[in-house]
Amino acid sequence: MTAVLPTRPAVCAPALPRVVGADLQVPLVTGERVRYANLDLAASAPALEAVAEHVTALLPYYASVHRGAGYASQVSTTVLERARETVGRFVGAREDDVVVFTRNTTDALNLLAGCVPGPVLRLDVEHHANLLAWGPGRVLRAAGTVEQTLADLRRALAADRPALLAVTGASNVTGEVLPLAEITALAHAAGARVVVDAAQLAPHRRIDIAADGVDYLALSGHKLYAPYGAGALIGRRDWLDVAPPHLAGGGAVRAVRVPDAEGVTEVTWAPAPHRHEAGTPNVLGAAALAEACRHLEAGLDPAHEAALLARLEAGLAAIPGVRTLRIWPDSADRVAVTTFVVEGRPAGLVAAYLSAEHGIGVRDGKFCAHPLLQRLAGTEDGCAVRASFGIGTTAADVDRLVDALEWLVTDGP
Ligand code: PLP
Repeated sequence: MTAVLPTRPAVCAPALPRVVGADLQVPLVTGERVRYANLDLAASAPALEAVAEHVTALLPYYASVHRGAGYASQVSTTVLERARETVGRFVGAREDDVVVFTRNTTDALNLLAGCVPGPVLRLDVEHHANLLAWGPGRVLRAAGTVEQTLADLRRALAADRPALLAVTGASNVTGEVLPLAEITALAHAAGARVVVDAAQLAPHRRIDIAADGVDYLALSGHKLYAPYGAGALIGRRDWLDVAPPHLAGGGAVRAVRVPDAEGVTEVTWAPAPHRHEAGTPNVLGAAALAEACRHLEAGLDPAHEAALLARLEAGLAAIPGVRTLRIWPDSADRVAVTTFVVEGRPAGLVAAYLSAEHGIGVRDGKFCAHPLLQRLAGTEDGCAVRASFGIGTTAADVDRLVDALEWLVTDGP
């Protein structure tokens, strides 16, 4: 008997997806309630309405996967395995690539770190997840231009001969996008593979790992308009099939034997992806992530985001004392993330003011990129303010931020 999946509405491109809570009202310090301007999507993006509906439709089929004989188990198993296919398709995976479901990007990169057969080269601009997951290997200081950074990478690849180069697809601080095809060509010429931390790239750009020659890619569902708790590592099978399992336990094995009472347990581990997915998987999380991918295949709107980013940065540039941060002013492309400082005003106070007095949600701090902020922020505490946006963000949200900052600088305490 073949399990029949619950029906769901077809995706009709190019209607833009809607997020849950787009009209959320939040209280100001005055007690007045205003529409929340959520400019913190780079941290976690609200789920798409379609994702919430999909998860609700699956709830009646809540059952164990892979080993259950019942109908609901068969549905859940099919949902999980179809989710794998959808996520792979979303990033342009090759036919023989593996999609391993993880908790998030951090988990995916740590999983891969357990599989790499040699040192890992990375840049110092990375989010801590892509800086700290790896063991041995050089952390290269990024130069002030993309061009020079690529030249430095070429030299470091030739000198160090790492097994893997770990790069971000888009900076979580500046939104700057790296030229992936060029980077993979450099790495492959030196015999290294490339993993892309796509936590920030995937919510904004269509990715094609086969076309760009990317060997591995990590992403997080909660930044991709799905709920917390599910992410994925996508990439080449060989390293994943021979490495020790990410977690040891049920579901990751083919066979387990204890030859005699005193004997050592003998285990035959399953191949990837199951080798690295011990324990009961987050089926609803995987299904939600896949459903978000399905809608984003047609629903990403880089032109709209670029227009909002230009509007925001023009507004910020006109405010005295507001300075935006860039690693590579020559980078050709950016996702909808911008980080700035307001001279003389601690980032934490600016963020608190925006929330309490204007109902605007931004992030302040060092964005899990301490070495980069140390270099770029130029403030006493090394902190800055980040505004990031995407689906559901309007020009009015951007204008509210600019107006609020203008007021703070010109009339504020
Ligand atoms: N990489 C980048 C570029 C990020 O922006 C983040 C989160 O902000 C991560 C990795 C870690 O993502 P997660 O917390 O979902 O593991």
